[in-house]
Amino acid sequence: CGVFGVRDPQQPAAHLTYLGLFALQHRGQESAGIAVSDGDKIMIDKDMGLVATIFDEHRLQALPGTLAIGHTRYATTGASAWRNAQPVARHAGDVFFALGHNGNLVNTIELAVGHPDADADSDSDVVAALVADALLADAIATAAGKTAANKAAAGDIGSTGHDAGVAEKPGNGDLIAALTSVLPRLQGAYSFVVMDETRLIGARDPNGFRPLFLGRCETGGWVLASETPALDVVSAKVVREIDPGEMVVIDDDGVHSIQFAEPARKALCSFEFVYIARPDGKLAGVGVHAARRRMGRALARQSPVDADMVMPIPDSSIPGAQGYAAESGIEYGDGLIKNRYIGRTFIAPNQQLRENAVRIKFNAIEDNVAGKKLVVVEDSIVRATTLRSTMKLLRDAGAAEIHLRVLSAPYRWSCFYGLDTSDRSKLVAATMSVEQIREHLGADSLAYLELDEMLTAISPEPGGFCTACMTGDYPVPVPGLVV
Ligand code: SF4
Repeated sequence: CGVFGVRDPQQPAAHLTYLGLFALQHRGQESAGIAVSDGDKIMIDKDMGLVATIFDEHRLQALPGTLAIGHTRYATTGASAWRNAQPVARHAGDVFFALGHNGNLVNTIELAVGHPDADADSDSDVVAALVADALLADAIATAAGKTAANKAAAGDIGSTGHDAGVAEKPGNGDLIAALTSVLPRLQGAYSFVVMDETRLIGARDPNGFRPLFLGRCETGGWVLASETPALDVVSAKVVREIDPGEMVVIDDDGVHSIQFAEPARKALCSFEFVYIARPDGKLAGVGVHAARRRMGRALARQSPVDADMVMPIPDSSIPGAQGYAAESGIEYGDGLIKNRYIGRTFIAPNQQLRENAVRIKFNAIEDNVAGKKLVVVEDSIVRATTLRSTMKLLRDAGAAEIHLRVLSAPYRWSCFYGLDTSDRSKLVAATMSVEQIREHLGADSLAYLELDEMLTAISPEPGGFCTACMTGDYPVPVPGLVV
């Protein structure tokens, strides 16, 4: 998922959020939503589909205010349905808040116990329910504290104690106190944007699985976003990343930082570099495009092959293929054209339609591939469904040899931190050897980049990344999972 938030008294927040979400569309294409505050009340508009198909000028005009959060959804838990679109919103007493979540919690079932109103299928909804309950608890505790203070004050001044036994009526809880009590109970991956009527809040899990950036607008406002290109698009400068275990609260006085939990083992998702993040952004100070190029160079050194042309499977493999070509000295070329207008992968009910669906996404450039020995660079192989059909496209276009080179290590384990791969039986590398995968895909040779090489290509500093889907080493234990 992609999350975005902005608080800028000089600019219409819904419009900025639209731009930010547009830049984060690649992180989730199932639904999108914007929550906006005019200082008094919060309004939310969300729907299924792409940002550009949901929102138009008319709909944005109906969202006035200078504080907003937004979300693009990629379903990892919960169905791809309107009720799971975000931001989610709740109220407790007079406090109304909205929340957008990137990541996936591993203890949702445990957290949902005792919260029958929460949709236990959606970790984000469970978090919102917990925060609402914490707000009520905070309101009651504050009222009780005031009552005790009243009693003490009455005693101090020698009053008859006329009011001393009257309980203070619960008022409203404090959202920051509620979040500070709830967040340490969450296990797994989360980067949140949260808002009430006047404040913008961001929070990141103690392992830092998913990115979250703080930016500053030229007009003095503040922005939170999953990736730096979403800051660029609203002309905001990157200030810094939100630290693991940190919450930032942005109000009239600026940015306040609260460390709600000690940072744990650093575990930024290494697949952000391989596939998820935009190449024009930076994560942990590392440019994504350059990291992918280095992966391609490393792959060329590790698994060279005699070939006529190096080609990517567009788009995320392009920098890696460029790196492979530069290192190997083999000419770089395009063998496939990707239709830029394709949104969600078409779910077709039979094999023939599935093959047609691949042709909607890709088509081969026959003149470039016919009779050639090709190095085909792919970022990763997860389920291999599309890739198998893509290999066939190249064969049908006359490729003489196909040498498949993969920029990451085999994806053998389910991700429980924000990629929808929880069914391990669907992961091709979990059930087949490399040789079996090669045969299954119809390639002449197949090589994956070694994990160490991949991590060195991302960053020369050792450690700091989650690699669970390639190693089975889960930074946060997953209840019930036997590794
Ligand atoms: Fe990323 Fe893989 Fe870890 Fe999931 S398991 S967070 S995809 S590195």
